[in-house]
Formats: sequence, structure tokens, C-alpha cells
Amino acid sequence: MDLTLSPDEQAFRDEVRAWISDNHPGKEPEGLSEDDQWKFRVDWQRQLHEGGWAGVSWPKEYGGRGATLIESALFNEELAASRAPGPANVLALAMGGPTLIGHGSEEQKERFLPPILTAEEIWCQGFSEPESGSDLASLKTKAVKDGDDWVVTGQKVWTTYAHHAKWCMLVARTDSEVAKHRGLTYFLMDMEQEEVQVRPLRQITGEAEFNELFIEEARIPDENVIGGVGNGWMVAITTLMNERSGLAFGLQVRLKILLGQVIDLVKEQGLEKDPLVRQRIGQLYTESEIMRLNAWRGLTGIMKTGQPGPEGSLGKWHWSDINQALTEFTMDLRGPDAPATDSEFTFEFLRARANSIEGGTTEILKNIVAERVLGLPKLR
Ligand SMILES: Cc1cc2nc3c(=O)[nH]c(=O)nc-3n(C[C@H](O)[C@H](O)[C@H](O)COP(=O)(O)OP(=O)(O)OC[C@H]3O[C@@H](n4cnc5c(N)ncnc54)[C@H](O)[C@@H]3O)c2cc1C
Repeated sequence: MDLTLSPDEQAFRDEVRAWISDNHPGKEPEGLSEDDQWKFRVDWQRQLHEGGWAGVSWPKEYGGRGATLIESALFNEELAASRAPGPANVLALAMGGPTLIGHGSEEQKERFLPPILTAEEIWCQGFSEPESGSDLASLKTKAVKDGDDWVVTGQKVWTTYAHHAKWCMLVARTDSEVAKHRGLTYFLMDMEQEEVQVRPLRQITGEAEFNELFIEEARIPDENVIGGVGNGWMVAITTLMNERSGLAFGLQVRLKILLGQVIDLVKEQGLEKDPLVRQRIGQLYTESEIMRLNAWRGLTGIMKTGQPGPEGSLGKWHWSDINQALTEFTMDLRGPDAPATDSEFTFEFLRARANSIEGGTTEILKNIVAERVLGLPKLR
């Protein structure tokens, strides 16, 4: 792939840069309550929307900017480089919206897409269950048809932003007689009903980003089935592919920013001539460059096939390895008191522990790369 930008792409990047520099909300103020932190991100998404930058890659007919893949990648790079916060409705913008655009009916697109862009309706992803994470197809949450509705009972876990969400991308079992992948259906479940209880789970960082969902005979109208009854596995894969493929561009820039902060830390500590420290910095820089180039390579694949492919799994796996190595390095540099000291580095180190689990564990991603990218034989 030729990585030289065309004049139009350069003009697009300049436009993004100019807009961000005029509209950047600044660093999130320190000491905000969790509610105010959330409001900060909602306000930022509204601003992005007003500027025409929410749903950059979505088609214009659905309220997006209709940006090409390269333009979307440039946008994500520039946004990350500016250190702007992420938009509040990130799961819907990056995963739910593209899934609906691919598999939803025109009525569903008309109803659900606009309030995603404006952050009026936040979405969460109800896939994982206490006994079904990597082996998602084994999930037990059940949906039974009752007139024009489906009645859903079960439990979900690790549901990010469920405490803010109006809609849940819910995968449930609608047929237990057929092979496990074939008996699933993808729904949009209204979270605002008594029958859905959301309980926050506090993480090692101290934040409560995700939740448990207890669902006891919740109702979902038939019109909220996405992609047809029994097709839930295929629709869920679209969501997961979008999750993994969309990540790489912003994340590789965030890695470089963190690396820059680490180099400042090394200098502060007078360790810049230490050969072992220099070796680790060199290694981490090389790895993050490889990740950047692989992200562009993945983009070429999408341009050829029109779909995010299994290569997205490689980027997600590689990023979690590098981010964990980088944040562990900051702890080594800061010495034995580091874990007990409240600092951005400590937060990043603790948050990075989840990187090799969220969005697919590293072991599962390695299996995908082995089987579907390298063509190695299946284990099972
Ligand atoms: C921060 C965070 C946010 C999340 N947000 C959401 C969300 O919004 N919505 C949602 O639905 N889920 C979410 N998850 C859940 C996440 O998708 C699951 O944790 C993940 O898929 C792993 O499932 P599990 O936790 O059940 O682990 P398990 O699947 O039980 O895995 C346990 C261990 O066994 C290994 N393993 C399992 N199967 C195999 C295999 N076949 N080969 C080799 N090794 C294997 C795994 O790699 C892992 O190390 C989130 C998780 C985190 C950490």
C-alpha cells in the first residue's frame, strides 16, 4: 500500500486538525464526580456531532460524514494525537451503528441511528455472561416469543456503560434445539424497564465502568430483532469485527503519546544513558511502529473486501501486549512505591491489565490469527 496521502486526503487531515484545534474541550478537569465525567464526554460528543464529526465513517444518508476508510483512519489518528476524550456513545458509534447499517431494516436505521450520533441514547453491549465469554455461542440468556414480543430472562456481565445506556445490543438464545451458533438472535433491548437490573462492578482502578445485568422476563418487541431470528451469531460477529478493526488507529497514536511521557520520565530520573532503559524504549518504539504499519495493512484488506477481516484481531492482541509492557515499564522506572502512589501512570498500569481480556482475550485472538489469517489447522 502507498502510504503517501493524496492532496484530498491532506486537505481532509488539515480540516480535521483545524476543527480540533478550534473546538478541543481541554483536559478533563481533575476531581470530577463520575456523573460529571460522563457529562463531559456527552457534551464533547454533542460538539463533535454539531461539527459533523460524529459517525465519521457512517454513510451521509444516515447522518454520518461518509468519510472514506483512509479519511476515517486519519480522523481517529488526529483525535487521539490531540488527546481529546473519547465520545460518550463509543460502543454505538463504533460497533452498534455499523452493525445496524449492515443488518438492520430501513425503519430500524431511521429510528435508532440519529440519537446515537447526538448521544441522546447511549448503547451498551450485552454479550458476555458469567459462564460464556470467549465461548460466546454457549450463552444461556433465553428469549421466548410471546405475541408480538420476546420475553427475555438471563444474566449478563462486564456490560460497559450499562448504567448510562438506553439500549443494549443483546444476544439471546431463541432456539435450544439447533447447533449452539444457530440458535441465537440479536436484539435491541430497552434498558429502561423494571425487569432489567443494573449493578455496577468496581474495577482495580477504582472506577465502575462496567456492570452486571439481571434480566427477569424483560420484554423486547419483535421489531427490535436485528438481522432476523436465528441469525444472531452472524450479526454479533459484525459487531466484534468492527470493535477490533476500528481500534488500531487511535490506539497506536495513544501508545506513542504514552511513550513520549515515559521518555520524559526517564530523563527526569537521569536514566537516559542506562543501556537497559534505552533498549526497552527502542523495543517499545519498534513495536508501536509495527502496530501502526499493520493497522494500515488491515485497512488495505478492508478496502479490498469491504468488510473488516480477522486481521483486526492481530492489532488488538499486539496493542494489548505493547500497552501492558509500556505501563509495566513506567512502574519499574518509578520504583517500589509506584503501585501505591496515585498518579496517571499507576492508573494506566492498572487499567492495562484488562487490555488482554476486553474485546476478546489474547489467547482467543491468537487462535483466530492462527486459523483465519495464517491458515493453520483448527484445534477443535
Ligand atoms: C474492561 C472490560 C470491558 C468489557 N466490556 C464488555 C461489554 O461491554 N460487553 C460484553 O459483553 N463483554 C464485555 N467484556 C467481557 C469480555 O468480552 C470477556 O471478559 C472476554 O470475552 C473473556 O471472557 P471471560 O471473561 O468469560 O473469560 P473466559 O472465556 O472464561 O476465559 C478465561 C481464560 O481462558 C482462556 N480461554 C478460554 N477459551 C480458550 C480457548 N478456546 N483457547 C485458549 N484459551 C482459552 C481465556 O483466554 C482466558 O485467559 C469486558 C471485559 C473487560 C475486561
